[in-house]
Order: sequence, then structure tokens, then C-alpha cells
Amino acid sequence: MFTLNTAATAAYVVAALLFILALAGLSRHETSRAGNTFGIGGMVVALVATIALAFDRHIEALGVGLLVVAMIVGAAIGLWRAKVVEMTGMPELIALLHSFVGLAAVLVGWNGYLHVERDAAGAEALQLGREGMLGIHSAEVVIGVFIGAVTFTGSIVANLKLSARIKSAPMMLPGKNFLNVGALVLFVVFTVWFVIDPQLWILAVVTVLALLLGWHLVASIGGGDMPVVVSMLNSYSGWAAAASGFLLGNDLLIITGALVGSSGAYLSYIMCKAMNRSFISVIAGGFGIEAGPADDKDYGEHREITAEGAAELLESANSVIITPGYGMAVAQAQYGVAELTRKLRARGVEVRFGIHPVAGRLPGHMNVLLAEAKVPYDIVLEMDEINDDFDGTDVVLVIGANDTVNPAAAEDPGSPIAGMPVLTVWNAAHVIVFKRSMASGYAGVQNPLFFRENTQMLFGDAKDRVDAINAALSVHEPV
Ligand code: NDP
Repeated sequence: MFTLNTAATAAYVVAALLFILALAGLSRHETSRAGNTFGIGGMVVALVATIALAFDRHIEALGVGLLVVAMIVGAAIGLWRAKVVEMTGMPELIALLHSFVGLAAVLVGWNGYLHVERDAAGAEALQLGREGMLGIHSAEVVIGVFIGAVTFTGSIVANLKLSARIKSAPMMLPGKNFLNVGALVLFVVFTVWFVIDPQLWILAVVTVLALLLGWHLVASIGGGDMPVVVSMLNSYSGWAAAASGFLLGNDLLIITGALVGSSGAYLSYIMCKAMNRSFISVIAGGFGIEAGPADDKDYGEHREITAEGAAELLESANSVIITPGYGMAVAQAQYGVAELTRKLRARGVEVRFGIHPVAGRLPGHMNVLLAEAKVPYDIVLEMDEINDDFDGTDVVLVIGANDTVNPAAAEDPGSPIAGMPVLTVWNAAHVIVFKRSMASGYAGVQNPLFFRENTQMLFGDAKDRVDAINAALSVHEPV
């Protein structure tokens, strides 16, 4: 017989399929818009089905009213944030959203505990279904609360680091690996204890332990590894949602959580491979990474160049490579950069772009900005495609990039970013670095590139400086 319940179950299957199509679509540039649409469609179907289920289960009018109000308020805040967020603020917004998933999982877990383990009627109702169900329920509660709490504080620290409200350098507590492993061992012990004897104080201790562990795990990770951390927290938020799905008996939440959890974990794994980092070390909160000595090396003097000087150098060049970074996004210099590209190409200069996989603050950040400014796709190359070409290049313009062009990663085994692949810009004949000061990049590491013989610094806001070069080039426009 057709009931609201069967309709909602069918709708959940449709939503799950739409989420799978969304993930498939989002994996390629060309299909990403379609992927996004599938995701929105899946979420709308899931929400409608959830409300229908609420009616079917005869939840009181107050409950349904609260559900609708919460959805309207949530949707309004979500729309507003998505509208006002700058591209450079996306990763911190995503980190904040992960923290909500974590918090929700903690609340669902506690709610489950209060309605079953702490409520004789609830426990009896559960046991009626099957013997041993209470133990399974307790395990779901404690595991869900643990994953949720780690995700919650971990994501908050990630948000604070990404928005520069706390330092991006790794926190180095003495015996940090011991603290992390110790917390995991305690969690296992308390889980077993809680399943045997579900007492409130155990759940409270596990919650506090997980909140501290989440904070410590992410605080211990250096700025250079943050992209991996954001994707790892994405994965944790998926597992937290799946754990809530088990508790609530909601299949869609289990499927969606598992999709997010496994795809996030796989993405973190490929990012680690691409950045030559150890996956285990990153997920274990920088396991094995110890504080190096403070970098007080004397790198010598840096040289400066003016916008006019840079324009002259570019006019006489045959080949130019532009390597943009986070600073180009902050300055919104991409339109000026696109114009500079057009001007140089009109003069017969070969211009190409070298894009580092983690340039900016989210994967693909630079590609999106350059596409927005209508820079032709075919001259925008990935790091691996262009890294061997710096050798024969006349001028490299490093526009607001820092960590991604740091020779210390390739040459100094003691550097915190040692082993991370970088754009080897220093092999070109001339390098011009656009930035406002001698400050370090996101990873907080000094960059010896700035002091090299063939490097000149062009200080100031990247947009201003690029515009000034464009103006200087216009004076000698070819006829
Ligand atoms: P960096 O953060 O290393 O450097 C950016 C540079 O831009 C700084 O040196 C800064 O110097 C300069 N800058 C900032 N504003 C301006 C401005 N208005 N005009 C001119 N210059 C400016 O950026 P990269 O892109 O090279 O490297 C990305 C870093 O971010 C890596 O460490 C990466 O791991 C991390 N990260 C990447 C994520 C991703 O998914 N891609 C996510 C999270 C972190 P100054 O202040 O002197 O101007």
C-alpha cells in the first residue's frame, strides 16, 4: 500500500542517486555545473521527504513548526553567506560548515543517549525489536559523539587558521604524538566501558576528550598542509553524518555520509601524494613532524624594481611565465593580469601561466580567477606541465605567490615544507616578485627566492603594480 513512508523511502533512493551524480559531475570542470545542480536537486528531494516523514510519524505540530522555522532560518543564512563570501574566504566558510555537521552529530548522539540509555521506556522499546540492540545503540552513540566532537573543534581551528585569526604555524605541545595516541587509547577504553555500562559521566568525558583532540590535531598541523586538513575534515564530517544516520535509522544520511567520508578521504590521499606529504602524518596531526630550529639565517639583501623597469624587461623578453598565488586573488589583479597578457602577446611575446596545485586558498582557485578574466585556457598550464620550461624562460612574474615558489622546499631538507613540489621559477633568467612586504607566505616560512641574484621585488598591491606596468607598456604601444 502506498504510504507517506514508502514515498519518502523511494525519495531517499532518488536523492542518494542524485548525490552520486553530483559527485561524478563535480569531478570534471566541464560537468561541474551539472554536478552542482544534481546536488541541489538531491538536497531538495531529501528535505521534502524528511518533512513528509515527520508528518507520517505524527510528530506534534510544535515539532513540525520548529523544523520548518529552522529550515527557513538556515536557508536564509546559507543564501546570505554564499552571496557575500569572497572567493578567498571559501575554505574558511567550508571549514565552518563542517563544524556544524560535527556539532549536529554530537547533539544527535546525546539526544539518542537521553532518549534510550537514560530513559527506561526508550531502552525497553529498543530491546523489544531485538536482544542486544541496546549495546549496539550505545556504541553508535559514543562513536558518533566522538567523531562529531573531533570534527567540531578541528573545523573551528581550521576556520580560525584560514581566516588568520590564529597563527597558521603548527602548535608544538611537548609529547604531542603521545597526547594524540593516548586520547585514542582512552577513547577505545571508554567506548567498551560505555557499551557495557552506559553512564552519563563516561559520555561526558568522551565528549570533552574528543573536543580537545580535535582542537589539538588541527592546531598541530602547519599552514602548508592546511589544504589536506580541510579535505580531511570534510571526510570526518561525512563519517559524523553517517554515524548520526545509524542512530536515527536514516538510510539517506548513512549513504550521504559514507559518500562524503570516503570521497574526502580519497581526495586527502591524492592531495598528500601530489604534495609529497605523508597521509598518515597529516591525519595524525603532524605525527612525526617536530619543531625545527627558528630560521634566523641571513639571506643577504634583496633587490627592488619599479613598474617601469619591469615593463622594460617584459618588452625585451621572448618568453614570459606568470605564476599567480593567493595575493593575486586578494588584490583582484586577474583582470590587469589578463590585459598584460594580451598586450605582451600582441607584441609577439610568448606568455604562459604556471599553476601550482595548492596556489591560493582552495584547489583550482587560480584557474577560476583566470577563466573569469578570460585568459585563454590553452596557455594556463599545471605545475608538472611547465616546471621543466623555466630554464629557457626570460622573465617570470610571481604575482602574489610565495610558498608555492619557495626553493627551500626543494633544497632545504630541514624546511617545514621540505619535499613539497614547487614551481622552479628561480631557473628563469629574471624573476619579478609582486608583493607588499617581505612577509612570509601562508606556511610562515622564509622564502630564499627573494634574495636570489636573478630576483627583483616589485612592492605594492598586485593590482596597482600590474596596472602601472600596463600603463607603462601603453606608452610604447607597438604600431
Ligand atoms: P601564500 O599564502 O604563500 O603567499 C601569498 C603572498 O601574497 C604573500 O607573500 C603576500 O605577501 C602576498 N599578497 C597578499 N596580498 C597581496 C596583495 N594585495 N598584493 C600583492 N601581494 C599580496 O600563497 P601561495 O598561493 O603561493 O600558496 C598557497 C598557500 O596556502 C600554501 O601554503 C598552501 O598550502 C596554503 N593553502 C592552500 C589551500 C588550497 O587548497 N589551495 C587551502 C589552504 C591553505 P605580502 O603580505 O607581503 O603582500
